Amino acid sequence: MNHKVKELIDKLNDEHNLSREDFIYLIDNQSEEARKYAAELAKTTTLSVYGDRVYVRGLIEFTNYCKNNCYYCGIRAGNTGVSRYRLTADEICECADEGYDLGFRTYVLQGGEDPYFTDEIICDIVRRIKAAHPDCAVTLSIGEKSRESYARYKAAGADRFLLRHETATIAHYNQLHPKEMDAQNRYRCLEDLKELGYQAGAGFMVGSPFQTSENLTEDLLFIKDLEPAMVGIGPFIPAAGTPFENEPAGTLEQTLYLLSIIRLMIPEVLLPATTALGTIHPRGREMGLEAGANVLMPNLSPRAVRDKYKLYDNKICTGEEAAECVNCLENRVKSVGRRIVVNRGDNIRFSN
Ligand code: SAH
Repeated sequence: MNHKVKELIDKLNDEHNLSREDFIYLIDNQSEEARKYAAELAKTTTLSVYGDRVYVRGLIEFTNYCKNNCYYCGIRAGNTGVSRYRLTADEICECADEGYDLGFRTYVLQGGEDPYFTDEIICDIVRRIKAAHPDCAVTLSIGEKSRESYARYKAAGADRFLLRHETATIAHYNQLHPKEMDAQNRYRCLEDLKELGYQAGAGFMVGSPFQTSENLTEDLLFIKDLEPAMVGIGPFIPAAGTPFENEPAGTLEQTLYLLSIIRLMIPEVLLPATTALGTIHPRGREMGLEAGANVLMPNLSPRAVRDKYKLYDNKICTGEEAAECVNCLENRVKSVGRRIVVNRGDNIRFSN
């Protein structure tokens, strides 16, 4: 392996940070050996912080209506090829009940930015889930809102919020989104979420169109600066009916390398091996766990709507019942010497 790359990975492991120049060098000079080396150190770090425990979050994709037009996203408003659905509050609560029996102690309610779900409706759903399962954490992933709205969800009982920053470079943000969308507003949301006491999750797609090593470096520095409780990264995968439908997907290798780098940069971060990673390679999620990830987010949405929540093409696990997903994941996790725990899975900075 390139001597300087090894030195930089060691430095990142010791100091949990690098300069802009060093991050660019690390990204530009990766190799099979560098990825292997980074993954080994990242796995050691994961095991020393979280042991062999893998946390699972039950993902409930409750609406695929969206008012936005992100160029990459399969459920963008302008995609007329999507058959739209919304789950009712009752259906969402039923998913949570079913998930509870399967051992989930945290739910992620994710959806497009659907104006039908007013703050009042969202708060009501959060309160119902928290009342039925006080030992569970509720995570929202419903996009950009005002600080007041985030405060209301928090008061209703929401514990966490996932909002990928998508890219920390404004010019790049503008290549991925229409002009109605504003990078600064998205970053503002993350600041608000953190200040309001949420365990906040930032993140980005790996290999999104126009992305450079400089962009990825800015993403890493942004994340280091924000120190979020969670970081969600996964490969970009083209989605039919979007402006980027013919763009190449991000790679497995680059995603794994970045997972390792993020683990070394923030040892206690919660890092999911995403469904997108499992979509570009049959063992993508297992390899993610081997490279520093410690979280999985299987689908709890009703089977009838699963194939409609398609952020990208060829998404896995759309035909399975929640229980089948859990079984399959348990075996996958065991195959890499780890175990799924029945636990809220808080970031250790937030657990008492
Ligand atoms: N609307 C909410 C959450 C749903 S989208 C929000 O704005 O946060 C969840 C994440 O899926 C996005 O943040 C994006 O990073 C990712 N995503 C969207 N389209 C994708 C694609 N084509 N390939 C891979 N990931 C994608």
